[in-house]
Amino acid sequence: MKRKSIKTSVFLYIFISLILTIPRTSFAMDKPQAINGTLDLSNWTYHQDGIVKLDGQWEFYWKELLTPEDFNKVDLESENNLIVLPRAWNKYEFDGQELSGKGYATYRLLIKNNSDESLGIKLPRIFTAYKLWVNGELTAWAGQVGTDINQMTPQYLPQIKYINPTSDTIELVIQVSNFRHRSGGILESIKLGTASQISDLYISNLTLELFLFGSLFIMGIYHIILFIFRTKDKSTLFFGIFCLLISMRTLLVGEIYFINLFPSFSWELAHKIQTFAYYLGVPLFTLFLKSVFPEDTSKRINRLILLIGFSFGFIVLLTPARVFNDINTYYQIFTFFVFIYLFYIITIICYRKREGAFLIGMGVLVLILFSINDILFLSTMFADSDDHFLRNFITRGNLSSWGLLIFVFSQSMVLAKKLSRSFYKVELLTEELIELNVSLEDKVIERTLALENSRRELQSAYHAVSRSEKSLQDLIQNISHDLRTPLTGIKGYINAILDGKVKDPEKQNKYLERTNSKIDFLNNMIQELLDLSQLQSRQMKLNIEEVPVRTLIESFTKRFNIDSLRNNRKVEISSISDSQDETLILENIFLMIDIEKLDRVFYNLISNAHKYTTDDDTISISFNFTDDKEKLLVEVSDSGFGISTDELPYIFDRFYMSSNVDKSNSNSTGLGLSIAKEIVNYHRGEIWVTSELGQGSSFFFTLPIYKRLS
Ligand code: ADP
Repeated sequence: MKRKSIKTSVFLYIFISLILTIPRTSFAMDKPQAINGTLDLSNWTYHQDGIVKLDGQWEFYWKELLTPEDFNKVDLESENNLIVLPRAWNKYEFDGQELSGKGYATYRLLIKNNSDESLGIKLPRIFTAYKLWVNGELTAWAGQVGTDINQMTPQYLPQIKYINPTSDTIELVIQVSNFRHRSGGILESIKLGTASQISDLYISNLTLELFLFGSLFIMGIYHIILFIFRTKDKSTLFFGIFCLLISMRTLLVGEIYFINLFPSFSWELAHKIQTFAYYLGVPLFTLFLKSVFPEDTSKRINRLILLIGFSFGFIVLLTPARVFNDINTYYQIFTFFVFIYLFYIITIICYRKREGAFLIGMGVLVLILFSINDILFLSTMFADSDDHFLRNFITRGNLSSWGLLIFVFSQSMVLAKKLSRSFYKVELLTEELIELNVSLEDKVIERTLALENSRRELQSAYHAVSRSEKSLQDLIQNISHDLRTPLTGIKGYINAILDGKVKDPEKQNKYLERTNSKIDFLNNMIQELLDLSQLQSRQMKLNIEEVPVRTLIESFTKRFNIDSLRNNRKVEISSISDSQDETLILENIFLMIDIEKLDRVFYNLISNAHKYTTDDDTISISFNFTDDKEKLLVEVSDSGFGISTDELPYIFDRFYMSSNVDKSNSNSTGLGLSIAKEIVNYHRGEIWVTSELGQGSSFFFTLPIYKRLS
């Protein structure tokens, strides 16, 4: 067995033991019995021996309502019969005939008493009206005793009365009549003790019953509220109603506190409610078990129980007590069968290890056993006989309510366990959800980034494809256009030699040299075209490295100086110097560049500056950072020819050459600036020009700074 089950069964055990050991006033062990209508208590010490049950042979006058005065008359003709109490007069043999429950009679008992202290007498419910005289004095009554159904009013009123014995004999005379119940007479023991013993007994009984009522009532309401909040689980509704019914019943059995509060409450109605609660309790309990363990109960048997239970309940509602009392025995037998079925269910659920099966099983078992006690106590075989051996064990008729309380206790433990488990699950799920949420957010971000990346990749792939396509088209167009001119030249020179038009070897040589240089030019042009095409389609791979700004500036400056020396131009160099500001230490500022390709850009700008200037002009270079300090800004300026505003927008186009340039005699291909632009763009930089005709030109390009070391 698991540790938890042990814990819960220990709990249950303690609870049951507590209930079973509820303090009860001690009863006499060696039960004195009345003999021949006299109970000898002359040797009885109440304080030591306890309360005594006035059981045994009572005088019994059938069909006679006698008063104490009648017994004082010397000429009392009544026949002195004896009846052993407690029992119903049903089946009592009188004049050779068995009595039925209906009728009236007088009981008489003489008690020999040696105590002069105040005594208490505890009267049970008597079936179904009575009048009691103690020593000739009318002491207690319930309902109205009468000789037929119309003259009498039934009422159950257990009560206690105090008497002060004046002589050593106490005479009890009780008139009883019954026409409404199946059983008639005194079915439970009348008890005698000292006044305080009897009041203690009464108070403790009452307290426990009210406690029981309160507990069951609250549990009933609690379960119904549970159902209102969660209508999906019907078990709480069935159980709630069941508890309420049994709590009502608790007030109508035992000390019948309810009638103490409302003495004129209809016996018929009270009896109806009490029986109805029992009859309906059986199918309700089955419904409850069915909704808790749907897979372990039989649908057919459930339906049968409901049908029978509700039909009997219906009969109780519609018929008077004297009718529905007669079917009670059948319902009790039916209940026994239901108990067997319930027992089968609890065995199954324990075997199948259902949630809470052990606790509920224990609870149901106790409820069954306690209810069997009550059924037997209220059974006709018990009521109609005085010497039934079961009377030794079964002394009280309201144990089932206690059984239910134990069951409620076990059920609430199951409920508490279920609830706490559900809470635990909810907490766990919440935690998981939170985690999931967080990781979901991360995942969404991750996926969005991935999507964004692939979108960019797709876009750049698309651009690359369209660029390649375009550069291919341009290439073909340019080749057809721009290669034709030098080719025509070459063809002209060669034809002139071949045709024999040029015979002078010196001239021939000159023609061949020109042809050769045109071929070199073509070669160069084709190479540049290929480079440009590859750059445009981004097929040319750059050899990117981390280069400090200082290194780039030094490399450019060196080349500038060499080129300018060759061409005798005046030069000016202005470079950003390392400043105190640590953000501007050139050694620590890095670019991600292919230094060779950028050298080609720089070379192109300088050679253009030489080309489009005269010896009087100045060429200057300067290195700076853009205003936002995010880029390096390189400027190559000259004070030469400048470019007209009309031509400015086109000078970065491939093959664009100013109209002033002598195309036939120059080595210009018109590709230099296009290549420069592609290389700078490839580095995520920009290139532009400002110029005015005759005023010189300034070419700028930027390169993004990759990182700064602090
Ligand atoms: P090219 O091989 O003809 O120099 P580029 O693409 O380098 O081809 O230059 C394109 C045109 O831009 C040149 O034909 C010229 O008209 C103009 N250009 C370039 N640089 C300068 C400059 N520094 N001053 C004036 N014009 C220039």
